Amino acid sequence: MLTTITIPRPHVPTGPLGVHEDRADADYLRAVISKIDTGYTRVGGSGVTAMIRSLVADAAEALETPPNAPGRDIVQLVRDLIDPDECWFDHNGGCQAHGYFSLQPGELCPNAEAKAWISEMGA
Ligand SMILES: [Zn+2]
Repeated sequence: MLTTITIPRPHVPTGPLGVHEDRADADYLRAVISKIDTGYTRVGGSGVTAMIRSLVADAAEALETPPNAPGRDIVQLVRDLIDPDECWFDHNGGCQAHGYFSLQPGELCPNAEAKAWISEMGA
């Protein structure tokens, strides 16, 4: 099952002057969530309301995610692919544990790089 899809950006009224457009749109969407949560507005039954609320919340989050930040699915994929075993280097500097036999001096095993990346991501 797909957990992430790409849809066009929501068309929302522009925010206050001096506020970055992404931030203004995210604030607007969060105001919609607040109105749903406080019962000010309702869309269909409780299931539809919950789905719309979730969609709007995801859109607000996406607007404020830095464009170069990997999606959650990529982080999870890398986490799943990492071998928990430590690298084991042969006399030529290749990682025998992960099958990277021709690493150049100073080059890291990709498995070690992935571990470091996940650690930096705080995931
Ligand atoms: Zn390795």
